[in-house]
Amino acid sequence: MLKLLRLIRPYRVSIAVILVLAFLQSLSSLYLPTLMADIVDEGIVKGDTDYIVRIGGIMLLVTIGGMICAIIKSFFSARVSIGFGKIIRGRVFEHVENFSLNEFDTFGTASLITRTTNDTTQVQQVITLILSMLVTAPMMAIGGIILALQQDRVLVWVLVAAMPIVFVVFLLIIRRAVPLYQVMQVKLDALNLVLDEDMTGVRVIRAFDRNAHEHRRFDSANLDLTDTAITVNRIVAFLMPAMMLTLNLTSVAILWFGSIRVDRGDMQIGSLIAFLQYSVLILFSMLMVAVLFVMIPRAEASAKRINEVLAVSPEITDPVAPLPSGTEHGQIEFQNVTFSYPGAEEPAISNITFRTGPGEVTAIIGGTGSGKSTLVNLIPRFYDVDSGRVLVDGRDVREMTQEELRAKIGFVPQQARLFTGSVAANIRYGKGNASLDEVRHAAEIAQATDFIEAMGDGFEATISQGGVNVSGGQKQRLSIARALVRKPEIYVFDDSFSALDFATDARLRAALRGETGDATVLIVAQRVGTVMNADRIIVLDEGRIAGIGTHRELLESSQVYQEIISSQLSLEEIA
Ligand code: ADP
Ligand code: MG
Repeated sequence: MLKLLRLIRPYRVSIAVILVLAFLQSLSSLYLPTLMADIVDEGIVKGDTDYIVRIGGIMLLVTIGGMICAIIKSFFSARVSIGFGKIIRGRVFEHVENFSLNEFDTFGTASLITRTTNDTTQVQQVITLILSMLVTAPMMAIGGIILALQQDRVLVWVLVAAMPIVFVVFLLIIRRAVPLYQVMQVKLDALNLVLDEDMTGVRVIRAFDRNAHEHRRFDSANLDLTDTAITVNRIVAFLMPAMMLTLNLTSVAILWFGSIRVDRGDMQIGSLIAFLQYSVLILFSMLMVAVLFVMIPRAEASAKRINEVLAVSPEITDPVAPLPSGTEHGQIEFQNVTFSYPGAEEPAISNITFRTGPGEVTAIIGGTGSGKSTLVNLIPRFYDVDSGRVLVDGRDVREMTQEELRAKIGFVPQQARLFTGSVAANIRYGKGNASLDEVRHAAEIAQATDFIEAMGDGFEATISQGGVNVSGGQKQRLSIARALVRKPEIYVFDDSFSALDFATDARLRAALRGETGDATVLIVAQRVGTVMNADRIIVLDEGRIAGIGTHRELLESSQVYQEIISSQLSLEEIA
């Protein structure tokens, strides 16, 4: 947690103000019992009304002063702790944004969300508590003891006897509760995972009538969390009454022994009253510290989870000294590239070598799982290769900044993903300052104009969360338009035509040819019709190149290609 505390630095002035106010507030609380003793001993016992009114007035002022300090203090505390939460969330989000896809997979989305929200709140809460007690509790405890000693030296032994009891009760409770708090966060992760899967997979669940099953799964995760929470709260709930009991028993003991001393004339009544109030202050501040000790380990568990995220140094980072950009544009070269996913036994692709340049269309074809997506994902450096090199414009992708590299590429991923917002905003995702004409033109090429205009508000129509109000093919066309509007040097289409009907597919490719004329184009596809006219076709089979060449060349030479073809076309059509 200390590591995270460094992030609070922007609020150091507010914290200083809080500490000063806490100091003043504690002073007022410590001063009141002494005044009270004076009123009783000098005023009431001697019947001096003027004195009572005068000291009473001072007491009132001191109380009001303490109250004002407390109010301003809580205002600043709220600001600091909420601001601190904001800083942590921002930090985590910023850090996670730089994660490579592998690192996302290690934590899982559900856990990353819990860590950014719930865990941050835990830390934030304990900071509020610490801020409100940092000065108050020790001052009340130590000041209380000194002032109590001034009132009476003998009665202090009652307090000395009470303190070990407080400590023991408290230790017993903490020892059992703290480990459970850590378990609770893990169970919260599990619950969020089920929730996330159930929400996003609702169609599949309904289609396969698995509602009851998912319901049970959610219930069990929910119950699991609830059980732990109940256990831990039961233990902690014991803390308050136990402490109060000790506190009240101590008060009784003080009154008991105190009244004996008053009776003997060793002590004045006012002193006894003041002493009683000091002992309440002392024990109460110990109680506050006890609560803090329950909260700190809990927040510590959360802080650890947040730090785990922050401690990951993203494996894909920009080079310290990027190579200067050359004169080449749109060159892509794979040199004997091998790549495997973490934990996989076999490389997803191995020994891939080819090169392509501006004006050329390279198609990649192969069965599902043959490594097509993996291959194209290496071009924008979503992953780093195990061996070999990926060169873009003559430079290794690891030797240029990700920003420079990705600015060159218009990438249409296999999973079309849209964001909440208007159609135009989604297309402008490719180029923030694109004019409406550019947006329209991109949509036109992507064959998206018809359905966009049918959407009522046209380009201002809203795409709902996850793009559920457009079909799969429409989503694909919008994400193609998004890549087109950038006018990049390199286009990568990863199976981007799969949800289009044959006619739309053909029209789109014809329009594309005019648009992508002098750019470098990589098309991953399943259909022979889509790849037939490419300048170069790469046939992938289990991560290896099974053939490379034009349609005609491959027809002669590659058996894998022939098999793909014959599964799709009758022989006459090919000839
Ligand atoms: P294609 O696009 O040709 O259908 P992919 O490139 O998506 O194939 O996948 C190639 C192989 O890599 C598959 O065997 C798949 O199981 C594996 N794979 C793909 N993505 C991941 C991932 N994120 N983590 C681990 N393995 C993966
Ligand atoms: Mg794929």
